[in-house]
Amino acid sequence: MKLLEYEGKEIFEKYGLPMQKRIGVLKIGDSSEKLKFDGQGPWVIKAQVLAGGRGKAGGVKIANTADTARELAQKMIGMQLITHQTQGRALTVEEVLVEEASDIGREIYLSVVLDRKEGAPVVIASAEGGMSIEELAKTRPELIVKTPVDPNCGLLDFQARELAFNLKIPAGIFHEFTELAKSLVKLFIEQDANLVEINPLAITRTGKLVVIDSKIVTDDNALFRHKELTSKPDHEASEIEKEAKTIGINYIGLDGDIGCMVNGAGLAMATLDTVKLAGGNAANFLDVGGGATVEQITKAFQIILKDAKVKAILINIFGGIMKCDNIAVGVVEASKKVKIGVPLVVRLEGTNVERGREILSTSGIKIEQANSLWEAAQKAVKAAAGN
Ligand code: ADP
Ligand code: MG
Repeated sequence: MKLLEYEGKEIFEKYGLPMQKRIGVLKIGDSSEKLKFDGQGPWVIKAQVLAGGRGKAGGVKIANTADTARELAQKMIGMQLITHQTQGRALTVEEVLVEEASDIGREIYLSVVLDRKEGAPVVIASAEGGMSIEELAKTRPELIVKTPVDPNCGLLDFQARELAFNLKIPAGIFHEFTELAKSLVKLFIEQDANLVEINPLAITRTGKLVVIDSKIVTDDNALFRHKELTSKPDHEASEIEKEAKTIGINYIGLDGDIGCMVNGAGLAMATLDTVKLAGGNAANFLDVGGGATVEQITKAFQIILKDAKVKAILINIFGGIMKCDNIAVGVVEASKKVKIGVPLVVRLEGTNVERGREILSTSGIKIEQANSLWEAAQKAVKAAAGN
């Protein structure tokens, strides 16, 4: 799950990272009067979207007075933002963060990422912050410092000091920096993150250390350990994906027109590949889970059919512990409950498959059966094309 900048900063706060005062977050429909300013300003108004490069795209503005800040925040809400990271797509700005601006003297890049090659978290840092790290890795890789971390110990003192020397951190904030780097690694480990990034980490003209931006990507598989994260909206998920999640179905929307209902993630992946091989495109990845009960199959139909692109449904279920005849009853019962207006192709395999197929063929429901995944994929592609 990717967190918005202000959500990341709320977590940073718990780890004592130095930040400017946040005035507030404005959402669509909010009045900018809600923002209660105190202090001198200037203020910064920042579009809360899941993409970097906002600065250059008009998603970061500075205001000298509270009135201007309110005005800019109101203007930014609902705006369409295209940055170099959105692949040409426009993101709607649904939330805007207003906080105190900093008088930035120097920008540093600091992140912790899970490195599969190292098999450990790695701290990545560069004295050249602010710009894209991908760009820097291409043009000046020698400016990037990498420090692998033992996840059982966190960032050790000597490693943090070495990092600070490498980044030429001034003596006055040396200790504060090493504490910050250690806290960032602690946060990464405790929050089960895949990525935690501060770009930029600023040293102000008055020599203070300030976190300017935040990016946190957490590991969905560890969400069960983080109740406070599960209660947050998943900004990347579509409406259908969110609904699927609340009813416990593993669903990811795709671009094609063949709705797929499969049990098991591996089989679901194989089904997508086979559909592609047969010349079609899946509309989704959907894993109904181990127990393909009437209830789960009904819910899965409902979810698949919410996607208006779906022209045919392919059910590919392997009856292992769940027997094929029970699954067939599930499919028949579910299709009585849900109005399926598109062709249905079913491939069953496994225990009691003969009995399962018989139930389907004598059900009176228009179902096209297939004896193999390959045959099922071909039939589904044909059906989706209207043949
Ligand atoms: P993005 O990574 O999406 O471009 P950032 O939060 O990194 O967004 O902001 C981009 C740039 O805007 C920063 O490098 C900094 O120069 C400026 N900026 C952002 N926030 C502040 C702030 N609070 N005070 C001063 N300048 C800021
Ligand atoms: Mg940034």
